Amino acid sequence: MALTQFQMCIDGQWLPARSGQTFRSFDPSTAEPWAELPDASADDVDLAVQAAQRAFDSPAWRGLTATARGKLLRRLGDLIAQHKEALAQLESRDNGKLIRETRGQVGYLPEFFYYNAGLADKLEGGTLPLDKTDLFAYTVHEPLGVVAGIIPWNSPLYLTAIKLAPALAAGNTIVLKPSEHASATVLELARLALEAGIPPGVVNVVTGFGPTTGAALSSHPLVRKVAFTGGMQAARHVVRSSAENFARLSLELGGKSPNIIFADADLDSALNGVVAGIYAASGQSCVAGSRLLVQRDIYDQFVSRLAARAEQICIGHPQLDSSEMGPMATAQQLAVVESLVAKAQAEGARLRTGGKRPDLDSQGWYYRPTLLECDRHAMSIMQEEVFGPVAAVMPFDDEAHALALANDSQFGLAAGIWTRDLGRAHRLARGIRSGIIWVNTYRAVSAMAPIGGFNHSGYGRESGIDSVLAYSETKTVWINLSQAPMPDPFVMR
Ligand code: NAD
Repeated sequence: MALTQFQMCIDGQWLPARSGQTFRSFDPSTAEPWAELPDASADDVDLAVQAAQRAFDSPAWRGLTATARGKLLRRLGDLIAQHKEALAQLESRDNGKLIRETRGQVGYLPEFFYYNAGLADKLEGGTLPLDKTDLFAYTVHEPLGVVAGIIPWNSPLYLTAIKLAPALAAGNTIVLKPSEHASATVLELARLALEAGIPPGVVNVVTGFGPTTGAALSSHPLVRKVAFTGGMQAARHVVRSSAENFARLSLELGGKSPNIIFADADLDSALNGVVAGIYAASGQSCVAGSRLLVQRDIYDQFVSRLAARAEQICIGHPQLDSSEMGPMATAQQLAVVESLVAKAQAEGARLRTGGKRPDLDSQGWYYRPTLLECDRHAMSIMQEEVFGPVAAVMPFDDEAHALALANDSQFGLAAGIWTRDLGRAHRLARGIRSGIIWVNTYRAVSAMAPIGGFNHSGYGRESGIDSVLAYSETKTVWINLSQAPMPDPFVMR
């Protein structure tokens, strides 16, 4: 079958790589290539960053009022809403996510643009109540310049939107580098940005691999901020390369999020919350509730119910409405999952269910929902991110024990707490060191709610009211009110 051809979006033009090099993107449900994309070199990245810098300096963008920028974002939100089915289909095709999940994500996507559109002209500075009567000062928020957005494969549109919308609302321009495994919908978003009337060069997309295209982008001297979402290994490279130019950095990394079930919880609801946390999206979610802690009194009963529920999950083609779990997005990720499950078993974890590929008439990268029982929290499967449908479960005795286990992790992205005891929910919400706490729910997102991590889960927050400020500089302007000559020049005023 002929491969679908994509080009990069640079300065409003659709371009191949200057070298003519391309790479292939695979359909995870068949393991067959379906698309061909330009493999951008450092030269192509430079072209995109220069275009973004020119757009940043141009009256067509810098000359717009914040209100006008907001209107453009609103129009982009409307266009996304108009094309939501096509975008959902494309993302499902490209990264193997269930169509029911991509429909849900794309259906909500316009909200990120509407919310940030509303914020664009509310980035107010302040007048400062100075303690110096002959001086007046005020602050203004100004854009940073060219932003680099580096995106992983698991939710390309959502993870792009939470960078793109606030970056543009604040008046920046952007060069996006989607994952080499799932670039198609980010390119489509750039097309819609142009259609919305956002000037050429404001939104650019370069496609290619991390160590080449991504590294050229994060180390480019004109890039003033790198907004990175991905794994820890790539993040370490990005920290080093962006440091050379003192570019700002936000890092949304992985997790090993605890999902804590107390005996007093609504256990039917908790069971659904556990399934949502680890088996939805085949576990390929940064906030996956992969570390399951269950109070000892209900442990056997709950784990048996969970194993039975996991075995009923319908694994199938991601574009069938009946499927509850699709394939892993990449062959490498499937291999990682298989090796971490084997390592867990070698360390003594007991396999309750799953632990292998399903018997399907497909070459796709499917893996069964897996549950591993552990008796030591130090086991690697309790500590390392899997990024697949693999839950590691362990009992705990009481609230203090649950808190100690929850915080015994290098990560700190999310946590779930299931209890009917309000005081306990708030105590744990305060005590757990992670950026998101869900009480009696899991995997909820909103344009209004910040996301981000503690510890090795990264730093900086995306979404929410402050994310626009993270794409701006504060400038302080001083005015001399005095009619007297400038006082002693050798003393700080
Ligand atoms: P990855 O780190 O391999 O790749 C992420 C992006 O970084 C890709 O675009 C890749 O090409 C690029 N990249 C890789 N090496 C680079 C380098 N040296 N310089 C610049 N860019 C480079 O991650 P992935 O496998 O695509 O995604 C899985 C990881 O992402 C998991 O660890 C997951 O937890 C994390 N993630 C986090 C969040 C969050 O919001 N916290 C969301 C989704 C995924």
